[in-house]
Amino acid sequence: MFVGHYSIAFACRTERNKIPLWVLFVAVQFLDYIWATLVLMGIEKLRVTKGFTAGSMLDSYFHPYSHSLIMAVVWSVIAALVYKGVCGRYGRHYSGSAPLIIGLAVFSHWILDLIAHPRDLAIYDNTWKVGFGLWNYRDPEFALEIALLAAGIALYLTRNAMPAIRTGAVIGLGLLLVIVQIGDTYVPRTPLTDKATVTGVWIFYTLFVFMALAVEKIGSRRKFNAPW
Ligand SMILES: [Zn+2]
Repeated sequence: MFVGHYSIAFACRTERNKIPLWVLFVAVQFLDYIWATLVLMGIEKLRVTKGFTAGSMLDSYFHPYSHSLIMAVVWSVIAALVYKGVCGRYGRHYSGSAPLIIGLAVFSHWILDLIAHPRDLAIYDNTWKVGFGLWNYRDPEFALEIALLAAGIALYLTRNAMPAIRTGAVIGLGLLLVIVQIGDTYVPRTPLTDKATVTGVWIFYTLFVFMALAVEKIGSRRKFNAPW
């Protein structure tokens, strides 16, 4: 699962909880940020093999600290507490349910990975591996990613008031994510090394975070030079 994760970020953001979209973009990929970091450090292991599954070259044969069920729960709780702590410390208003939503957004990553991954997700440590393996079926997996993303964006647009220019920007961001997913799923390429792959993960995910931040800034500037 790749851009489908962002559907949850779009779906979680409401006028009431006011969680910034960029924070939710970090939350839904939090487990992959940890994974990419641990692979870079040589603690978790990844093989990038052409044709490993029809829809992905990633053979994550050892990722118990970022992607086991137990650790996914732990990271979700930590993320919720961090959000609560940071908001409290900097006097940022947050609704009572916001930390819980952050925790659920982080945990959603594991559920969506469970659908896509082959049996490489451990329940705990590196044992009892599960995964429904939708990545073995390229077109259905791609269709699911796009359908989820579209549904998430539709929810975001109906549950948040915004000027037309921002609506356009949100749809533009959605289309960009679709293009990135087309590239990832369908454009043949030579496998990179494990370290280069996770460096790419860090760069792309962080680019998307900045785009989510920029999108929510559009049309929110106060007009200081009102002509009266
Ligand atoms: Zn993942």
